[in-house]
Amino acid sequence: MPPQPVAEAARIRVTGVVQGVGFRPFVWRLAQELQLAGWVRNDAAGVEIHAEGAGLDRFVDRLKTEAPPLARVDAVTVAAAGQAGHAGFTICDSAGGRVGTAIGHDTAPCAACLAELFDPKNRRWRHGFITCTHCGPRYTLTRHLPYDRPQTSLAPFPLCPDCAREYADPADRRFHAETTCCPNCGPQLSLLNGTGNVLAGEPIAATLALLQAGRIVAIKGLGGFHLACDARNAQAVTELRQRKQREEKPFAVMVADTEAAARHAKVGAGETALLESPERPIVLLEQLMELPGVAPALSEIGLMLPATPIQQMLFHDAPELALVMTSANPHGEPLVIGNTEALERLAGIAAAFLLHDRDIVVRCDDSVRRGTQFIRRARGYVPCAIKLPGAGPSILAVGGWFKNTVCVMRDDEAFVSQHIGDLDNAAACGFFEETVAHLLHILDVEPECVAHDLHPDFHSSRFAAGLGIPAVGVQHHHAHIAAVCAEHGIEAPVLGLALDGVGLGNDGSAWGGELLRVDGAQCERLGHLAPLGLPGGDVAAREPWRMAAAALHVLGRGDEIAQRFAAEPAAATVATMLARGLNCPPTSSAGRLFDAAAGLLDVRRRANFEGQAAMLLEGLAARHGPLAPLAGGWQIVDDQLDLRPLLAALVEAPDRQVAAALFHATLTAALVDWVVRAAQRCGITTVAVAGGCLLNRLLATGLREALPRHGLRFVTAQRLPPNDGGLSLGQAWVARLTRTRPACP
Ligand code: ZN
Ligand code: ZN
Ligand code: FE
Repeated sequence: MPPQPVAEAARIRVTGVVQGVGFRPFVWRLAQELQLAGWVRNDAAGVEIHAEGAGLDRFVDRLKTEAPPLARVDAVTVAAAGQAGHAGFTICDSAGGRVGTAIGHDTAPCAACLAELFDPKNRRWRHGFITCTHCGPRYTLTRHLPYDRPQTSLAPFPLCPDCAREYADPADRRFHAETTCCPNCGPQLSLLNGTGNVLAGEPIAATLALLQAGRIVAIKGLGGFHLACDARNAQAVTELRQRKQREEKPFAVMVADTEAAARHAKVGAGETALLESPERPIVLLEQLMELPGVAPALSEIGLMLPATPIQQMLFHDAPELALVMTSANPHGEPLVIGNTEALERLAGIAAAFLLHDRDIVVRCDDSVRRGTQFIRRARGYVPCAIKLPGAGPSILAVGGWFKNTVCVMRDDEAFVSQHIGDLDNAAACGFFEETVAHLLHILDVEPECVAHDLHPDFHSSRFAAGLGIPAVGVQHHHAHIAAVCAEHGIEAPVLGLALDGVGLGNDGSAWGGELLRVDGAQCERLGHLAPLGLPGGDVAAREPWRMAAAALHVLGRGDEIAQRFAAEPAAATVATMLARGLNCPPTSSAGRLFDAAAGLLDVRRRANFEGQAAMLLEGLAARHGPLAPLAGGWQIVDDQLDLRPLLAALVEAPDRQVAAALFHATLTAALVDWVVRAAQRCGITTVAVAGGCLLNRLLATGLREALPRHGLRFVTAQRLPPNDGGLSLGQAWVARLTRTRPACP
């Protein structure tokens, strides 16, 4: 873009994330410094500025380069304007109209607030609710728009004169900081015992004492409660596992800072930046020193740094602390957010409750990342919008069944909700409906159509059918690939490689290892993995030995099942079922292929949580290191990728680590071969890869490295998880294209 001429007076428009992030006071301070006159205001499109005086060009430059930390400047356009003879520079009220950028996301305390938090001379010394325009809670405490204090859970806390003065002073860091407060006017901390009685002593010190004595404490966070215990105390961790009935699923651990993280795990430069980022996700890292019982038998551990002033105080006072911080969501139900709710639902789990009287309005779990990849997207990232290549109709998409999220498209942006969870219980379904209502409310959207999964029995699909607006059913794996296209703004046809658990296919069977040709709203199934039976149906997804039995069956070795899995009471029955084709629906799922491999290698007969067998298999392969693929390990017949030769090699494998590495290397090479052949045939060079199996690092890295060597562009999810957490974006994208670009007859 050529430099734009700057006149003596100019009208400047700034777009991007520029509202609710301290942008107007930043403009005001810059104008003061450069002695410019004029005004700044918010309007529906962003921020508008009228400025006059010398030094306008420097002003425009610095608008871009010195924007406040939470702002994101997409464009600054400058038009010459007439001199209006303004005296001084003023901040005007919003111009009205629909707010373009909704509500900000929640962030950890900024450096300035942290310095004040631990400065005994500051009036907010050890104030657990310190915040400013550049940091703190947003999404999780906002009920309605516009984003003003009375619309947040700070409403019951009127500003004291000192806070009011800061709030009104454009030169102050807390100018229009809607959630600012201080010890005189803000919420208060308290520590309660299991029966709801206040425990004596300063709450932070008393909490620390309990944690250090091996007790479990429920701690109120930004988007919900955590259950915390000393991660170095094996007995406390075991106790928490038993009380939470979470036998093997890994726990996340909070440590003071990156140096502390580096004592537990391998932390690279990119990971340091992620850990320290204001969004404060849980980051999966390679475990160095195993904390007993925290992430049993896994190569990775999830670490995070303190995300709230309360957590900061705990770690300031005990820097050596390592705390298990697991979501307080008993029985897989949604996260606990209310004080009374916590005392009820966490009774019998937590010995004490570190509470405060600032309500959590929106339930929001911790986000989980591994490098650039999202595994769960929630606190810190919601409701940041994904920019779309163009504007279109407003759409609601309701996601799938597992790891549900919902998505609202408005104009040229997509808003994907926080992780809601599996819709397998009434409470989760309630949370789902709440989230739909809240997202539509804060975005001020009335959708003109709703997109859903093809499966009619999902709560989300039934909900969509009941809305009374046009509904668009989108095939599960089409949606997975479309999510990648939406995120990258790809409107041209792509090859889609969906490597997933299970989703309902167009033919009514269980798909999950699919090669698709996706052209916007059109999707053609080019090929799939050779199917395996699911002995007993859904139960096979939880019992990898059943998938191993199905593999033996397709290898013509069904007579070995009963003996090989003699320890399984159902082994003989399963062998008979497979032989007779009874209750063994076929699936092309890639996830189940991983289970079959894990079962054949006896890595895991029964999975304790979803993906466990595949994770353990990946761990074995990673420990072994890279290996050449098995020659002749696959065949491609009629566009079906058949891995029977590889499975046969696993049956006889003498060494599990070698076999696990061989499985990963051969599967990756086979997929690349399959995709390359299809790409040559259809003349498409972009390959969108998605599905839950992409969380497997060896597979994802293998494909990412190999496809470009064949002249193909590899694209995958970056701002959303590749698993069902991203489904709603893809559904919305397909529905929007269906509305704006109707399918050819
Ligand atoms: Zn701050
Ligand atoms: Zn105050
Ligand atoms: Fe899926």
